[in-house]
Amino acid sequence: MRKRVEALRAAVQENGVDGVIVTKQQNWQYLSGFTGSNAILLVTEKSNILITDFRYIEQAAHETEGFKIVKQTGLAVDTLAEQVKELGLKKVGFEDDSVTYHEYDLYKKKIPDAELYPLHQVIEKIRRIKDSGEISLLQKAAEITDQAFGYIVDKIKPGVKESQISLELEYFMRQNGAEKPAFDTIVASGYRGALPHGIASNKEIEQGDLIVIDFGAVFQGYHADMTRTVVVGKPDRQQEEIYNLVLRAQMKALEVLKPGIKCSDVDFAARNIISNEGYGANFGHGLGHSVGLEIHESPSLSPRDDTVLEPGMVITVEPGVYLNGWGGVRIEDLVLVTPVGCKILSTSTKKLIQLQ
Ligand code: ZN
Ligand code: ZN
Repeated sequence: MRKRVEALRAAVQENGVDGVIVTKQQNWQYLSGFTGSNAILLVTEKSNILITDFRYIEQAAHETEGFKIVKQTGLAVDTLAEQVKELGLKKVGFEDDSVTYHEYDLYKKKIPDAELYPLHQVIEKIRRIKDSGEISLLQKAAEITDQAFGYIVDKIKPGVKESQISLELEYFMRQNGAEKPAFDTIVASGYRGALPHGIASNKEIEQGDLIVIDFGAVFQGYHADMTRTVVVGKPDRQQEEIYNLVLRAQMKALEVLKPGIKCSDVDFAARNIISNEGYGANFGHGLGHSVGLEIHESPSLSPRDDTVLEPGMVITVEPGVYLNGWGGVRIEDLVLVTPVGCKILSTSTKKLIQLQ
């Protein structure tokens, strides 16, 4: 944690601020380790302050290291203002996409003696590179997700509702150490597979359905994300063809994914394969997104993101093809960028599983 706070100090040096207010939950958790639901951090050149209310004083003291815990009296902003004044801060940064207009107004009123300086995605940029502690938590989250997939495939049969499958997946993950699902579990069978974000519904599984299952576990704040597509019975020719096409695109992306390559180029490598077979218009989303304390982080594998990949980034690779009225196929792995290439954290098989 100390290293993370130092990285923040280094990152804001050029902005000339003498303090940073941190109000986004995942960012204060990242910097301090505090997992409660209410806090403001004030990081200055010499001190780390965590303001929270009476419910969390003990928890904050227990979970953090190197932070002075200050009890909130009145509004959190009142306590923040006192600290800014006490420390004589002249220019304080705040997270421009985490503070509401109303809060900004309050800050201006209550902190009249310091200039408020908007910082954009500064901590998110630091969070792009996962440290070894984070990597092991992500690995554990991916492991629980793999186990859950192994468990659920036997339960998928004609007549079972999608919602039943998502319920059992989530139950299994929680029994095996997950805090919660990483997002609303997607179980999209048959024609519903054409909805890339088809959250499990009351539709029953039918013979011949392709089923897109997209889910993940959260372990100690860190998210996993994986998609597998399975088929009930024997796949027909089109199902097999499209499955193999998506798999080929996915494998190609994994092959090129390494430090030094642009995100947009990884996206292109997969998209090109799908486009060449005439399905370019049926792959309407980006190839992947970074994952960590949030399910969607930056950078993204998308045509519009030219970020160069670096070791320590953890990102999904998830091409898909969706045909209205027919269904869809998506295959998604969670991947760690290593110094020489990438390591796939999702280990579930990518052979098309045929359920009886
Ligand atoms: Zn997913
Ligand atoms: Zn994803």
